[in-house]
Amino acid sequence: MQITKHKVAAIHYTLTDNEGNILDSSSGREPLHYIHGIGNLIPGMEEGLEGKTKGDKLNLKVSPEKGYGVKSDALMQQVPRSAFGDQKIDVGMQFQTNQGQVVTVTKVGLDSITVDANHPLAGVELNFAVEVLEIREATEEELAHGHVHGPGGHHH
Ligand code: ZN
Repeated sequence: MQITKHKVAAIHYTLTDNEGNILDSSSGREPLHYIHGIGNLIPGMEEGLEGKTKGDKLNLKVSPEKGYGVKSDALMQQVPRSAFGDQKIDVGMQFQTNQGQVVTVTKVGLDSITVDANHPLAGVELNFAVEVLEIREATEEELAHGHVHGPGGHHH
């Protein structure tokens, strides 16, 4: 069986940046289960896994455009310092906005704080080492919910 649209695939993966730092890995954890072709994974991963079969190992280089996007200046915002009250603010601190977005402080000024709402991996070229462990058909219910059920998926 090949990985095509609406198949459930279980994969192990290790993600490194171009300097070889490991950013994320499923090693030592349960494999990642996902439904192919519905946007569960970043586009570069789905393209690379299309047509692969059980046991395949691959190395994927994913550009920011097919990963977590390029950094957008529009997502950098200056917020008046008063919005943070008496709290001490340092570069690198993260806050959740009222819309549920996570922002990171990139600059602390006297009157204003600059926060960045870009994804932490925006603008980063991603290197994935992937191994395909299992492939099966997705159930009607999984497709209706848009996520995998059972082992490695949602339990509800
Ligand atoms: Zn569900």
